[in-house]
Amino acid sequence: MTETILTREGQPEDLALDQTLRPKRFDDFIGQDRIKENLRIYIQAAKKRQEPLDHLLFSGPPGLGKTTLASIIAHEMGVEIKATSGPAIEKAGDLAGLLTKLQEKDVLFIDEIHRISATVEEYLYSAMEDYVIDIILDQGPSARSVRIPLQRFTLVGSTTREGLLSAPFRSRFGVVERLDFYPWEDLFEIARNSARALGIRMDDAGAEVIAKRSRGTPRLVNRFLRRLRDMAEVLGDGVITEKVAREGLDRLGVDPRGLGEMDRRLLEALLRHRGQPVGLKTLAVVVGEEESTIEDVYEPFLIQAGYVAKTPRGRVPTEKALEDYGDGQPLPPGQRGLFKDG
Ligand code: ADP
Repeated sequence: MTETILTREGQPEDLALDQTLRPKRFDDFIGQDRIKENLRIYIQAAKKRQEPLDHLLFSGPPGLGKTTLASIIAHEMGVEIKATSGPAIEKAGDLAGLLTKLQEKDVLFIDEIHRISATVEEYLYSAMEDYVIDIILDQGPSARSVRIPLQRFTLVGSTTREGLLSAPFRSRFGVVERLDFYPWEDLFEIARNSARALGIRMDDAGAEVIAKRSRGTPRLVNRFLRRLRDMAEVLGDGVITEKVAREGLDRLGVDPRGLGEMDRRLLEALLRHRGQPVGLKTLAVVVGEEESTIEDVYEPFLIQAGYVAKTPRGRVPTEKALEDYGDGQPLPPGQRGLFKDG
């Protein structure tokens, strides 16, 4: 159950919730202070010069606020935002259709920009640099290219896998920012704000439990809040207390350290193979999950929480993983003590 909580695809319920709770101004966007301050300065400068904002790339695991930042940027610039995703732009014509609809300074948001095709990427280059797009009409001897001028726009790209972007593409973004997992104190504030916005009753101890079990991810805070509201109404008097939060999250398979079923399955697989690093392919087969989902969704948090380390030959569990999730058997000498502070 917890594995589906983490991904966005096919979850209309989550998307609707994202829309309702998505902060519209920087003041309501909690945490990520350095990025926020930088963006504020860039926006102020662009406005002063009456120019569009430079193209921006946000990277980081899902649910950390990349889409939210794109919409706040558009709002603060006083422009429109058009949103699409890498896989949705199949042909150059699709891209031309999107770009020609943009007004001066508008934001084009492309989610999962690492999944854009190589051809579409080429077309984006001239659009980003010179605000033109050259479309080839017809084929063979009668082929000719038509240059379409564009309004000066801002491309905001979002990716969970910055490493998959080609160097020339990446270099065309004036600003590249990586979003990190949030400390629980920020998630605590997000939980309280979201509860207020949704009219959910919750005490501070309940908010703390949610914040500490949400894997550093605002989207999970919001999702858990909604689930826990249901449980509080059915099992208690409608208030999310510490007890309701603990019991509710236990029921959802989220343990006190914030790990879900798939996280634990991954750790178990690594611990079972200990002594030899496990490759991504093997891991995917053993736990029954897509390689890309393991890499994008689960692994980043397991690494940052100090449970998993990547070596050139594959993934290995850390001593912390052994302490918290092991069966009492020690790690082999080569892996001992290496990653304790992960
Ligand atoms: P991403 O694009 O990185 O996958 P989103 O921007 O869609 O993530 O964020 C998911 C949800 O989490 C948003 O709808 C918003 O409600 C909430 N959220 C994300 N970041 C923040 C934040 N810093 N402060 C408050 N809410 C946030």
